[in-house]
Amino acid sequence: MNMETGNTTVQTSCKQCGICCAKGGAALHSGDLSLLRDKNILLSDLITIRKGEFAYNPVTDTVQATQNEIVKLRGSGREWTCCYYDVNSCGCTIYDHRPLACHALKCWDPDDSLALVESDLLSRNEILADNESMQRLVREFEAACPLPDFAYLFQKMKNVSTDNIVTLEQSVNSDLEFRDRVVKESAEVSREEMFLFGRPLFQLLQSFGFDVFQSGSHLRLHLQAP
Ligand code: SF4
Ligand code: SF4
Repeated sequence: MNMETGNTTVQTSCKQCGICCAKGGAALHSGDLSLLRDKNILLSDLITIRKGEFAYNPVTDTVQATQNEIVKLRGSGREWTCCYYDVNSCGCTIYDHRPLACHALKCWDPDDSLALVESDLLSRNEILADNESMQRLVREFEAACPLPDFAYLFQKMKNVSTDNIVTLEQSVNSDLEFRDRVVKESAEVSREEMFLFGRPLFQLLQSFGFDVFQSGSHLRLHLQAP
């Protein structure tokens, strides 16, 4: 709804244009746990932004290293648009069971939304509280495939040495080998890979300006010229 104030039109309610849903799925908070327990939202529809990954922070209006792990609704296909947004009906397919962050979304008055950013977030460990074997798998992954220090890497991008690139290539391939192995062993892990492990490291490095190419059975990295 819009209100006329003099010559200006002031928005006062949601027009259901879907622009916010097209910018990406909502992050999940502690109050959303029941939506997962009741299977209103499936783990296969989640993606994890691991602590230290670079992501857009609407509070600072910059892309920066995340201070906490963020579990959020995934996009649809290769698009950012939330997987629960139906482009045909221009609506949310889980409207009655949408997460807290979606309830707080008011583009005309973003204070409630901004207050939720990186606050009281749900972690993989909390979501998997009653699934010890999956908790263990996530711990194994984090121990075997830690993220590089993206904040440091971002600062040093102009002076990345050959040794740095070789180390990153080893990490990229370890990450893929771990995923390949566990995904082959379990259909559940395969479905929930993006929730359990987040995006593969090689995809994350592409946004730092690395080209990725195949060499035999391994991936190699090449830093694009500035
Ligand atoms: S909150 Fe704003 S951007 Fe989101 S659907 Fe409503 S009007 Fe559109
Ligand atoms: S759950 Fe619904 S309201 Fe929330 S971002 Fe997705 S489509 Fe939009």
